[in-house]
Amino acid sequence: MQKKLMATYILIISLTIIIAILFSWQKGDKYIKDTIKKDTEIKVELLSDIINKESKENNFVFQDFVDEYSKKSDIRITIIDRQGQVVADSHEDYKIMDNHAYRQEVSNAINGKMSSEIRYSKTIGANYLYTAMPIYIKNFDGVLRVSLPLIDVQNITIDMIKYVIYGILIGAVIAVIIAYFVTKKFMEPLGELTDAAIKISQGSYNKIYLKNNDETGKLADAFNEMTVKLRLNMWKLEKRNNEFEAVLSSMINGVVAVDEQYKVFISNNKLNHILDINENIMGKKVFEVIRNTTIFNVLEKSIEQNEYIVDETTIKGKDDKIIRVYANPIFASKPSKSRNLGTLLVVQDITDIKKLENVRSDFVSNVTHELNTPLTSIRGFVDTLKNGAIKDEKVANRFLDIIDIESERLSLLIQDILSLSSIENMEKEANISDNKMNEIINEVIDVLNPKISKKGIELKVIVQENITYKCNRNRIKQLIINLMDNAIKYTEKGTITISCEDIDDTIIIKVKDTGIGIDEEYIPRLFERFYRVDKGRSRKMGGTGLGLSIVKHIVGLYNGEIEVKSEVGKGSLFVVRLPKQDGRRCIDIG
Ligand code: ADP
Repeated sequence: MQKKLMATYILIISLTIIIAILFSWQKGDKYIKDTIKKDTEIKVELLSDIINKESKENNFVFQDFVDEYSKKSDIRITIIDRQGQVVADSHEDYKIMDNHAYRQEVSNAINGKMSSEIRYSKTIGANYLYTAMPIYIKNFDGVLRVSLPLIDVQNITIDMIKYVIYGILIGAVIAVIIAYFVTKKFMEPLGELTDAAIKISQGSYNKIYLKNNDETGKLADAFNEMTVKLRLNMWKLEKRNNEFEAVLSSMINGVVAVDEQYKVFISNNKLNHILDINENIMGKKVFEVIRNTTIFNVLEKSIEQNEYIVDETTIKGKDDKIIRVYANPIFASKPSKSRNLGTLLVVQDITDIKKLENVRSDFVSNVTHELNTPLTSIRGFVDTLKNGAIKDEKVANRFLDIIDIESERLSLLIQDILSLSSIENMEKEANISDNKMNEIINEVIDVLNPKISKKGIELKVIVQENITYKCNRNRIKQLIINLMDNAIKYTEKGTITISCEDIDDTIIIKVKDTGIGIDEEYIPRLFERFYRVDKGRSRKMGGTGLGLSIVKHIVGLYNGEIEVKSEVGKGSLFVVRLPKQDGRRCIDIG
């Protein structure tokens, strides 16, 4: 900046010098020439007077006169007659000189007018000033002309210009030095302001202190005020940005906003997570980073129709994901609401929702199927009885037994469905109280003892004394019944062991049998509704396929966990761990 100012100063000074030189050259030259012209005209007039006087004498000769006065005044004198013929010349031989009638000053003088002319003389090789005036002396009517070389005049002008230049140059140097210090002083506060502005751009908002009271001082004050406002606005902006980022990253759905050129200008991590994107997609064209036809179509349609579009698709991968994509045009809130800024895409992972929907619809069709089987059987036997079988008492009794078994299966199934749905819909366990675990287990054994004895199974009970557990007595009883019942169902003349311990405030219930066991591949599905490893066997045993599903839900209600270890042909072990600590979803009834 200072350099630029200095360069401008120097340019202005140089221009001033050039203009001053040209001006003084022209004016000086003119002034000197005018002065000499006037001087010469006076000389011509004087000479004219002298020639008038002297020509009255008898021995007057023109040549003698011009020679004498040329020497005296150091100028060239010429006398010309009216025809332009030179009759005497102080510097040349007049006899060989050209006719001068057409020289401007001579011609003017012939016409009675004194005049001056500046001309280049080839003979002398310099500019000459010629001044001529008419003379009227006895017997002669002509022109008296005086010539003066202007070489001296030029030299004087050049000298004068030289001094002018010297003066101007000295003045210019002084002006440049002064300009240097003045600009330096002027630039200092500007330099400080510049440094402060650079610091602001780097994020540090320092005040500047200038002592000046002039414009720079006011500028510094305005600058400081601006810094404070800027800092406040930046702080607000940062706060808003942080809030926005926090909201964006807390969203459970993937979000991406694209501008009209399809470039991403907003996105969150959830989007990368849902769509398995491992790069930063900001600023990139959306189709280069998200290669999915449904997303593409939804986006295109929303842009074309300028309205909200939604669609679903499955993303193939290690675990298939089902996503729902919403596209909505983004309209600017300011200044004009109609301005379209791009499109907002929301990507929702609906895999779990879809799974749940599938589970529900599977459940409905399973329930229908499970209910239908005993009902069909009952109706079939009733029809057969009606059609005459009732008359045969033996057959009729057998059919009635079957109808009885199927009705009981139906009733068991309905009971299991009801208890499963009541546990599922339960947010918190109700009716809890302190219960002794050995009492609950003894009650279960009482219920199941007939079945155990009937199958000739040996029962081992290892229950720690005085274990108390805050729970809904019937719910825990049902849990143990279901596990024990399975152990009985799938064990032929073996041993069943039930144990209960309290380790580190966790109730651990183990039900072990030496029955048929379960193949490892089926274990992960055991807790699904209506899942059975061997459908026929389960049915024959009176199983509904809901026992373990109910167990799983009860364990969940108590924030516990269940583990299965099993080996085909050797038996199974079901371990349930129920934490005594709070945190389970229970309502204490005191
Ligand atoms: P079910 O009413 O058929 O017993 P469950 O939900 O109680 O239904 O059990 C699901 C399936 O798990 C059973 O059909 C059976 O194949 C298997 N199962 C459960 N417990 C045992 C066990 N102790 N030994 C062997 N298989 C078992």
